[in-house]
Formats: sequence, C-alpha cells, structure tokens
Amino acid sequence: MKTALISHPDTLLHVMDGKHPESPARITAIMDALAHKQILTRLQRHEAPLATDEHLLRVHSASYVKYIRELSPLAGTVRLDPDTAMGPMSLQACLHATGAAILATDLVLGEKAGNAFCCVRPPGHHAGKARAAGFCIFNHVAAGVAHALSAHQLKRVAIIDFDVHHGDGTEDIFKDDERVMLCSTFQHPFYPHRGADTRTDRMINVPLAANSDGEEFRQAVMDNFAPALKHFRPEMIFVSAGFDAHQDDPLARLGLTAEDYTWMTGFIMDTAARYSKHRIVSLLEGGYHLPALAESASMHVSTLAGI
Ligand SMILES: [Zn+2]
Repeated sequence: MKTALISHPDTLLHVMDGKHPESPARITAIMDALAHKQILTRLQRHEAPLATDEHLLRVHSASYVKYIRELSPLAGTVRLDPDTAMGPMSLQACLHATGAAILATDLVLGEKAGNAFCCVRPPGHHAGKARAAGFCIFNHVAAGVAHALSAHQLKRVAIIDFDVHHGDGTEDIFKDDERVMLCSTFQHPFYPHRGADTRTDRMINVPLAANSDGEEFRQAVMDNFAPALKHFRPEMIFVSAGFDAHQDDPLARLGLTAEDYTWMTGFIMDTAARYSKHRIVSLLEGGYHLPALAESASMHVSTLAGI
C-alpha cells in the first residue's frame, strides 16, 4: 500500500502578515521538493476534507470553537496571541488541516494507505483545549488521535513530537487520558517554557539544551522514547513532524540535519512495525528555513514511502 499525501490548496490562503515565518511558502517548498525528487508520483494524493464540529469538540471546548468561528474576520486580521493571527481564510485552512488528520486516520486504519503525511498548515501542537498559541489554532494531531480512539475504538495511541518546541497543547489535551502517550523532544529553556517539569509515565518530555546536535538527539530518543513505547505498546503512532530543530532554522538553536530526520523516521517506522501494525499518521508542525524544511520533510516522506 502506498503512502498517502494529504493537502489542500486552502491551507495556502492562511496569511498572518507578509513577513511571518509561518508562511504559505512552507507548503510550496515541500511540495516542490517532493515533485523535483519524483516522490510525488509515487504517493496516493488526497484533498483534505473540512473537519466537523464533532471532530473539533473531542479535543477543544465548545466555547473555544464558537469563539474561533465568531472571531473569523471578513477582512483584515485579528490577533489571537502575540504570535498568532487569523485572516479571512484562516478558519477554512485550519478546518482543512484538522480534516487532513481525520482522513489520514481513516485511510490508515481502513487499510487504504500504508501510512500518511499531512502537508498542511497552520501547525497545531501548541493549541490547547481552549487556547490558541504559537501559530496554532486547532490541534490537528490531537483531533486525529481522538478520532482513532472514538471512531475506531483504539485503546492505546502514541504521539511522537520531534518539533523543536514542546507540544504543550497536545499535553494539555491528553495528560489525563490513559489511552494516550506523548513523546516530545524540545529545546529547553525555550518557548513555550513548559514540559520540562511535567514528565509522567505517559508524558515523555525530553528537554534538550540549546546547541544539542543530532547525536545527542538520537541518544535521547533511544534512552527515553524507546523504553516508554516498548512498555506502552501503541496500536497506532501519530507524529507531530516539526522540522525546526534543524541546524539552519532561524527560530531555534538545535543542530539536527536532514539525515537525523531520516533516522528519526526510521525509528518511528521500526516502532510501528513492532507494536502498531505499521500504522503511522504524520502531520507537519514547524520548520521555518525553507530549503532545510523542504529537504528534511521530503526525506521524511520518502522514508515513510520506502523510497
Ligand atoms: Zn516548532
């Protein structure tokens, strides 16, 4: 079965301001790299549907979803936090990004795709139950996980978050849910300044000091994620695939390379082969140096696709 690539042109229409690093060019850079390397033609491609309120309300409060819908502007932008704004098409982009996670989950659990990558924006892992933050409005990976638990009755799902920032929104949503494990590496101390002191036996938070390199990252994954996942035995693995721990990224100070992302993808695939019937759904989170993002994300997808 092929790897599914799920995207939607409307995710390019979410624009916060002309110079914001979380820009539509991120998606274009990845898609161009996949086309240039002749990976695109070897994937099954899908347009992301719109998420419904049912999908959103599994992870966000009703008052928050209503607030975002009412805030959506007809023109101009409205600010949700110092880093996050909505324009006229932002709600539509967010609903397609969450919808991508839902479709990806259905394709993988329905055995219609080998695994899936959602090439969508804005990112989602800082969005909590009732909070937009750090470029994120709805938490797409969380909605996919909740869909796997509710609609497909899975009992144990793991999220592996290798974005350079802690997945604090995801932790907020699932910290009290025994069915979900979150494995998150992140630069610390650093935005969002959470996670370093909230580790539990299911919230596997692994802070990394600024300037940590790929070798230190891999060691941290083997020492922390591997034993936790072995014990938890997830039936499915979701990935918050942020590529902003790359050494060239302008927003952070870790030293990963595209080869480290290939290695990490291999680690996730080995884990999924062992415990999870190869079920992997990966979603784009951060990554702000366009050439590094294009190279790293395309290596991630080609590895998922076995190319
Ligand atoms: Zn990030």
